[in-house]
Amino acid sequence: MADSINNSKAPQTPAAPSFPTDWTGQYLLAKSLQAAGITQMFGLVGIPVTEFSYLAQGLGIKFTGFRFEQQAGMAAATYGYLTKTPGVLLTVSSMGFLNGLTATINATVNCYPMIQISGSSEREPIDLEQGTYEGLDQLNVAKGLVKAAYRVNRAQDIPTAVVRAYRAAVSGRPGGVYLDVTTPCMAEIVTAADAEKWLAEAFPIVDPAQPVSPSEEAIDRALTLLASAKKPAFLIGKGAAYAQVEDKLKTLVEKTGIPYYPMSMAKGVLPDDGPLSALSCRKQIMEEADVVILVGARLNWLLSRGHGPWNPQGKFIQLDIDPTEIDCNRKIAAPVVGDLSASLDMILAKLPNYKLSMDPTWVPELQTITKEKDAKFAQRLKDNAGVMPMNHWSALAAIKPIIESRPDVIIVNEGANTLDDTRDTLTMRVPRKRIDCATWAIMGMGMGSCIGAAQATGNKVVAIEGDSAFGFSGMDFETICRFQLPVTVVIFNNGGIYNNVGVNMATKGEPSFGEPAPTTLDLTAQYDKLADAFGGAKGYFVTNPEELSTALTEAIDSEKPAIINVQLAGDAGKESGHIGYLNPPTLQTVTV
Ligand code: ADP
Ligand code: MG
Repeated sequence: MADSINNSKAPQTPAAPSFPTDWTGQYLLAKSLQAAGITQMFGLVGIPVTEFSYLAQGLGIKFTGFRFEQQAGMAAATYGYLTKTPGVLLTVSSMGFLNGLTATINATVNCYPMIQISGSSEREPIDLEQGTYEGLDQLNVAKGLVKAAYRVNRAQDIPTAVVRAYRAAVSGRPGGVYLDVTTPCMAEIVTAADAEKWLAEAFPIVDPAQPVSPSEEAIDRALTLLASAKKPAFLIGKGAAYAQVEDKLKTLVEKTGIPYYPMSMAKGVLPDDGPLSALSCRKQIMEEADVVILVGARLNWLLSRGHGPWNPQGKFIQLDIDPTEIDCNRKIAAPVVGDLSASLDMILAKLPNYKLSMDPTWVPELQTITKEKDAKFAQRLKDNAGVMPMNHWSALAAIKPIIESRPDVIIVNEGANTLDDTRDTLTMRVPRKRIDCATWAIMGMGMGSCIGAAQATGNKVVAIEGDSAFGFSGMDFETICRFQLPVTVVIFNNGGIYNNVGVNMATKGEPSFGEPAPTTLDLTAQYDKLADAFGGAKGYFVTNPEELSTALTEAIDSEKPAIINVQLAGDAGKESGHIGYLNPPTLQTVTV
């Protein structure tokens, strides 16, 4: 055949580009994600998803390849939180799946929309436990731990599977969804005509996260209660940040004059330093408020589950999308179940029908306390500013003005003392500029969250990491360098989990005698050298506030990857930061 063509005397015309008339399941999967509007994936490839990643990238879907699946999952989750569309994580079978699943579960706990797509080995030998390459019953592992879990085993079902996963991730309370795609399904050959038909039947996805409204009665019940309140307060959670309702909330706060208290990631939804901010008055709100309006916040462990310090006579109005959240810890007098944007619209519309009766001394009382507490806090920063070697406060005093003069910078923050003290120090004035370890209080979300935040927004990102926290995700600093993202990683190096002064309680003769304590890390670790290892990045080692200021300013403004190793004292920071009370007590008496 080739010979006859070559020998032909007929004039040669260039061959028309050839398009495959058959599709594979994995090509249909890539086309389905494209049809769903997915423009970005995060993952770590290998058998059986490598070819799929090539195909998806070939269709224009960006692919950020990571060093650890868990971090790719953290990136997908953060991307989902910031864009209200599902972040997509791609993993290989067995361990890759399991590594990524931890992030998908974390996303579910935190109400971030994401989809983990994992290749899985052929089902038959897994079901019969016959031993196969990376064999694991992944669907059943994921079920029960994530918001929804599906398996697709026939190419014809792929478009519907993607639509289902998408809807499950973003509708109602957002969360993590697992989509298991078997190797035979990805390899299945179908005709292009059939594949196009299945795509056309499933897409586009019509209104995947329709805002559901509460009833009129629910709004009237809530406003009746609010009108009776003498000492009301709004408690704003990251559900409000996610729902992007800052403008409506601002109007409601201005119209009612009711003070507000933000949860950690809701800082900046309304300005931390606004005249009605009660950020410094957590205790007063818990003990004295008679009506608290929860706006996308859960009465979970972070709020003593509504008991303990809370006013036992106090009543709650709860605005939440999830009906099963209501009453889960404490009776909610006025549940408002619906999407925050719809609920706030309805509240604003009916507000003029109600006359509020707030005690005129309530807000001034909170403002006085705020002034005192803020002055005390400023003094603490001042007192610590010159302390050498540096502690968390001296480092944060240097960081504070640099971050606050760049309100578009997204802060990623994890650690123990590093988490608590950074949250307390940085005044946030813009929504969705703080990403932290959130409701599960996990460590190891840092580098992934930086990458997800940078790629979702194009904004500059600054991670403020404890040295221990950084260790969980540090290798993905290489990913930051490879993609040349505008991320500055600041490491508070006090040489340990909590600090460097952990005690080894073993006595002489015990095999563990003299070894590093469980909480002890390397106080002299040169994290800044990672910049040299990976290239395209700048590393800084700083030992005093002036060096830190100069390095941080230069690093952020360079819009290039940077890593700043901040040398703290080994005894800076205390065990477990603010939540040491959660440690079970030590019963043994130590005899030395
Ligand atoms: P925080 O830790 O800041 O208190 P949580 O994650 O505990 O925040 O609570 C967020 C709450 O917001 C969840 O109960 C979730 O169901 C709710 N939520 C998320 N998105 C919406 C939305 N669009 N409308 C209403 N509620 C929402
Ligand atoms: Mg530390």
